[in-house]
Amino acid sequence: MRTILVVGGGYAGFYTAWKLETKLRRDEARVVVVDPRPYMTYQPFLPEVLAGSVESRHAAVSLRRHLRRTRLISGRVTAVDHAQRTATVQLAEGPEFALCYDIIVVTAGAVTRKLAIPGVAEQAIGMKHVEEAVAIRDRLLTAFDRASTLRPGPRRQRLLTVTFAGGGFSGVEGFGELLSLASSLIRKYPELKPAELEFHLVEASDRILPEVSGRPGRWVVRSLESRGAHVHLNARVVSARDGHVVLSTGEEFDSNLIVWTVGNDANPMVRSHTDLPIDGRGMLIVRADLRVGTENEPVPDAWGAGDDAAVPDLAAARPGAATVPNAQNAVRQGKLLARNIGATLRGRMAKPYVHHSLGTIATLGLGRGIFQYRGIVIKGLPAWLIHRGYHVLAVPSWERKIRVLAVWLTAAVFGRDIVSLAAVQDPRYAFVTGGEPVEPPAQPSVRFEYARPV
Ligand SMILES: Cc1cc2nc3c(=O)[nH]c(=O)nc-3n(C[C@H](O)[C@H](O)[C@H](O)COP(=O)(O)OP(=O)(O)OC[C@H]3O[C@@H](n4cnc5c(N)ncnc54)[C@H](O)[C@@H]3O)c2cc1C
Repeated sequence: MRTILVVGGGYAGFYTAWKLETKLRRDEARVVVVDPRPYMTYQPFLPEVLAGSVESRHAAVSLRRHLRRTRLISGRVTAVDHAQRTATVQLAEGPEFALCYDIIVVTAGAVTRKLAIPGVAEQAIGMKHVEEAVAIRDRLLTAFDRASTLRPGPRRQRLLTVTFAGGGFSGVEGFGELLSLASSLIRKYPELKPAELEFHLVEASDRILPEVSGRPGRWVVRSLESRGAHVHLNARVVSARDGHVVLSTGEEFDSNLIVWTVGNDANPMVRSHTDLPIDGRGMLIVRADLRVGTENEPVPDAWGAGDDAAVPDLAAARPGAATVPNAQNAVRQGKLLARNIGATLRGRMAKPYVHHSLGTIATLGLGRGIFQYRGIVIKGLPAWLIHRGYHVLAVPSWERKIRVLAVWLTAAVFGRDIVSLAAVQDPRYAFVTGGEPVEPPAQPSVRFEYARPV
């Protein structure tokens, strides 16, 4: 029996495996998914995880619960030798081993672009994973508790200062949601004044949200500024050493929380450790039917999709354009990939991927959003309702939809949860100290033992 290896069980990989389970007979092929995480991350919910509007575990879709006929391996593919049809897998526990396959599907996604800026590796937190979203929220909540014990001054101001680098889709959504949480939270702290909150959004180009056109983009800037935010356009973070942020415009300030959302870099495994063809950016070269290779030179038995692949965008007016790295494409590519693998195994033709964008929808915080589909722009509450409606329908499985909806409904009645659980990062502290008054641990937040100074 053939083995189909899916590298990465995120959006594209999860949908590929899920659909292969329904399209293939049990005796046709064995599907194996390798991923270090036991879940697919529903990334569009991460901004709401930041704000406490979506429970963190509800943004994690369990692979084991949904992929019932797929073999799941908890590990990371470190190299692919497609000529030998072999992938090297580093297991979560245990030695590296060679996994032989007949067909490979590469859906390992992208990584957050870091840039070699002093202090960023030590201080900043990305926003691609559930644990990052949880840490960002906890750090803000802990900062409020700490600031409320200090007199006004630089230390207190630093705790109440938040910086987001990158004004793309995820940065703006995260920024808007966290600002919304902070603005409502501060009313619960009589010791603190709303004017003390400092939220900085730093964007290198002259506009934020490149996915929406000029006017709606400017409206988003004005809307954030009307809520007290500082939006720095044409500005770059040039240093974040020790949490002291320096911008290319000369402005500087101390910031307790720095969130790094400046875009994607190629997955290092795809870029450097396969014999599959990649382009100059380290993206897998795939054809419109999602086979790896070019129209003239397809690579047999290799397929790719999602954020790690340069998929030709047949719906784009500009020739040679690749599909935008987003969930809209990753989901549909994953489904088509399963269909095409099934078709080719049965001697039928693979179909090309063609998807016309459904538009752009972004949350800007509780009750605020923006939606654009071609010339149609909807702002404010209606856009936010469309955002919620779209994502509750889009998150895979009824079980997830109902859980998320239940949290939204209870929050509408009781408000969102506002306690920091940052102490989970040091779970033995209470047990070891046994309640004795000892020096508290350094600010419990994200640990950076692995960070290398640049
Ligand atoms: C905060 C945020 C909000 C977003 N909001 C939206 C939105 O509203 N709408 C929208 O359309 N898009 C949105 N996106 C983008 C969208 O989530 C991504 O485009 C989509 O997740 C890409 O899917 P993927 O399968 O290519 O990669 P991913 O979903 O990132 O999955 C990649 C998987 O591969 C695994 N992996 C990585 N390396 C290896 C390896 N070496 N071996 C094995 N497994 C590996 C990872 O653990 C991961 O599970 C958002 C993204 C973010 C970060």
